[in-house]
Amino acid sequence: MKIALTGTPGTGKTTVAALLKKTTRIIDLNSLIKDKKLYTGVDRKRKSLIADLTEIQIHINHITTNTEPVDSVIIIEGHLSHMLKGTDAVIVLRCHPRILKKRLEDRGYTGSKIDENAQAEALDIILCEAIDACDKVYETDTTSRTPEETLSAVEEIIRSIKLKERISPEYLPGTIDWIEEAIQR
Ligand code: ADP
Ligand code: MG
Repeated sequence: MKIALTGTPGTGKTTVAALLKKTTRIIDLNSLIKDKKLYTGVDRKRKSLIADLTEIQIHINHITTNTEPVDSVIIIEGHLSHMLKGTDAVIVLRCHPRILKKRLEDRGYTGSKIDENAQAEALDIILCEAIDACDKVYETDTTSRTPEETLSAVEEIIRSIKLKERISPEYLPGTIDWIEEAIQR
């Protein structure tokens, strides 16, 4: 079973994946893209790689097919993971845009990159893309939580998906609304 762990940069994917690693197989999509050169070029303005989704999909299919028992969980972590085909569910990490800005400042991002990501978070861009791409999409707000609390939320979602149990309504898309943050700009 493949589950995408996605979210705007700074929402906490890598932090949570590092905690989840103790119990669950994780594929770090950003590292895979770099290591296997799964990109078509470099976006100089954004100082980022232009991912080659076709090649990424081929690689993911290759490394996840027939390598695990059917009931085991593989988490694919990265802000593009929700774009992959064949995932059983998508978990979107969220963070209030104002707090997200602080997290990205601490990371040393430039002003335009911070604004672009905060705006994307306010407009639910990744959530909307995920809903377009996958039937089962869940979200959890990391804003006033510790990484350990977010880990527990993500583990609870994974457990429910695995056991085909009803997911707690707090994780269903639609409760998080930061549109005011986008309008205020
Ligand atoms: P991403 O991989 O989504 O770009 P990172 O995990 O690299 O994000 O960075 C998230 C930052 O936010 C880290 O500095 C982390 O300590 C902090 N953080 C604060 N609260 C949380 C939380 N509840 N879950 C995950 N990260 C959090
Ligand atoms: Mg990351």
